[in-house]
Amino acid sequence: MKRIAVLGGGPAGAFAAERLARAGLETVVFDEKLAWEKPCGGGLTYKAYTRYPFLLDNNVPKKIVHDTCLAAHPAGAVHMDLSNPLVIYSRMDLNRMLLERAESAGAQLEKTRVLGLDRAGSGWRLKTRQGAFEADFCIVATGARNSLRNVGTEWTAADTMFALGYYIPSAQDHIDIQFLPDFEGYIWVFPRCGHLSVGICGKGEPAQALRARLERYLERKGISYKDGSFYGHVLPSLERSGWMKNRLAGEGWLAVGDAGGLVDPITGEGLYYAMRSGDLASEVVLNESQSPAERAQTYANLLRRDFMADLEFGATLAKRVFLGRFLFNAVPSRMVDFIRRSPRFRVLIQDLLAGTQPYLGLKSRLLRNLNGTMQEVLMNVFLQRVIPEET
Ligand SMILES: Cc1cc2nc3c(=O)[nH]c(=O)nc-3n(C[C@H](O)[C@H](O)[C@H](O)COP(=O)(O)OP(=O)(O)OC[C@H]3O[C@@H](n4cnc5c(N)ncnc54)[C@H](O)[C@@H]3O)c2cc1C
Repeated sequence: MKRIAVLGGGPAGAFAAERLARAGLETVVFDEKLAWEKPCGGGLTYKAYTRYPFLLDNNVPKKIVHDTCLAAHPAGAVHMDLSNPLVIYSRMDLNRMLLERAESAGAQLEKTRVLGLDRAGSGWRLKTRQGAFEADFCIVATGARNSLRNVGTEWTAADTMFALGYYIPSAQDHIDIQFLPDFEGYIWVFPRCGHLSVGICGKGEPAQALRARLERYLERKGISYKDGSFYGHVLPSLERSGWMKNRLAGEGWLAVGDAGGLVDPITGEGLYYAMRSGDLASEVVLNESQSPAERAQTYANLLRRDFMADLEFGATLAKRVFLGRFLFNAVPSRMVDFIRRSPRFRVLIQDLLAGTQPYLGLKSRLLRNLNGTMQEVLMNVFLQRVIPEET
């Protein structure tokens, strides 16, 4: 293979391009905006910056936040000091850094929209606003709003969440996470350098209703959003059935990041999976010994082994976490109670938020660790009910 086209220059595309260009392949990134403030919290977990340490070791402005406040009715709020903090970027800064790294590695950046792609022999002919372009292989990194119909995840309403919010010129030192009664989603307030990124993501409600919920919350907290800039976007949140039929790869193309639906269905974390899938896709492309069909299968296998099986299991867990009940109370409210009362449960939630505790294996950790006090016996019953059997 000589020439690789990377369609989309967000974290998934930029990172794949960096890897491919560094290995010596002619790599061209097409993005209609290049670096931009993509609607996002911008939070990177410990899992992300320990695998890719340059995400922490750089001069780009970012907030490193330890203090997190989780709240749910009727339990109220509980503060938790994260042992492994969240690193929060503006997406303009993060995207620019990743694109600059790709460019320094030798990738060519083209600011243009890809309008379509067709097979041309064993390669591809891309139609862009700037004209046609020939490539041997395509990395599809066009995000959750992928308009290229023949490649990437085929979306259904059930497999997405709507996410909207405000960038607000204000400051606070801690992260807020608010769960809402009978609502599959949550509200967040992330402090960034110079502003707050606040938002709500949720399934099964129209955007207007989500916006009203968020604004009511901000008014209650005394956070004025009148000077904030509003945003809305789609967040992949695949159901179990969505994972089963997910269109991730085909002959001559691999989908990375949101274009392949690779987002945690509970937390909405997508930045790590975007970069990790970009990394694994480049590994597959660089393995010259495989046929195009083998490449597609190898990529799917690598993803499953690396993180996708865990996200699939997370999809089974999601509804139980947001909408489940235990002893006459909603599960999020019980979680707040347990964090308050049990140091061991608090560590468990910290590990989940840091990405060091996968969903798979959660049940066995609980069975190993939680016993003894009455509180922990109760918690054990609670978690046995919330976490389904691993299959
Ligand atoms: C409101 C919100 C909050 C979030 N908060 C977090 C968070 O705090 N932490 C976290 O880990 N994840 C978060 N996510 C998820 C995260 O934003 C995504 O998972 C991540 O951006 C995926 O990266 P990507 O490169 O796959 O796609 P994107 O970042 O969406 O990049 C796709 C790129 O493709 C370009 N593009 C699209 N179509 C074309 C085309 N036809 N031609 C040329 N260019 C094209 C776009 O311009 C864009 O730059 C959040 C998502 C939302 C919506």
